[in-house]
Amino acid sequence: MPELPEVETVCNAIRKSIKTNKIKEFVIINPKLRWNIDANIKKLLSKVDIRKIYRRGKYIIFNFNHGSLIIHLGMTGIVKFLKNRHKVNKHDHYEIKFQDNTILRYNDVRKFGSIHWAENIEDNFLIKNLGVEPLSDNFNYEYIKKISKKRNVVIKNIIMDQRIVVGIGNIYASEALYMSKIKPNKNCKLLSTDNFKSLVKSIKKVLQKSIKAGGTSIKDFQSIDGSPGYFKQKLLIYGLEKCACGKNIKNIRISGRSSFYCSNCQK
Ligand SMILES: [Zn+2]
Repeated sequence: MPELPEVETVCNAIRKSIKTNKIKEFVIINPKLRWNIDANIKKLLSKVDIRKIYRRGKYIIFNFNHGSLIIHLGMTGIVKFLKNRHKVNKHDHYEIKFQDNTILRYNDVRKFGSIHWAENIEDNFLIKNLGVEPLSDNFNYEYIKKISKKRNVVIKNIIMDQRIVVGIGNIYASEALYMSKIKPNKNCKLLSTDNFKSLVKSIKKVLQKSIKAGGTSIKDFQSIDGSPGYFKQKLLIYGLEKCACGKNIKNIRISGRSSFYCSNCQK
């Protein structure tokens, strides 16, 4: 599943690939996604100017004077840029045609992706409960410490809770906890101030590293030009068998997800 760094990479690629801020038209090819594509989007996106393209959590946002388009890549969503009209492929769902004749086409094998229109994005049901952005200054040790002192759950669940902080998936949570030497199943109340400082630093570092590398390679995910996957970031703990210290890495289930850690390096 594309995580924050992949979505950031796609967002950057869209900004780079489109040489105009003008949309000519929106074409629905197959409306069946996680939610059926609203037919009104066609009218709303006829001959309009884009104000801004940005990422919020794992959503790609196209902002206009009259509202916003909210795109989610689901599990297997891919955007491709076409220069001319190409024949429709299986699993193509929609197209955004730009003034410079570039076409952004969305393909999604498993159909978990979505596209929504929101007049006021902050009121949208997908966006309104999202926590802070992990790479923003609002995500700092005081913020996460204050929340953790009031909860009674394991720390991995805190950093993966999208209502607290967005976009930290299973791989990045495992990596950041390893880098900050904290056991994923440690009760969040028991972390020290230094633990919180280190954890916040590690989360920002692992995400930034991955954005720089173009997003971690994941088997269902293709890069924007259709090539199979991004450069794989070197992972330190996730999916590995042996830690750098020589000990076997443990794989436990936390909230149904594989959680890799080293009992020697993480306390
Ligand atoms: Zn170790």
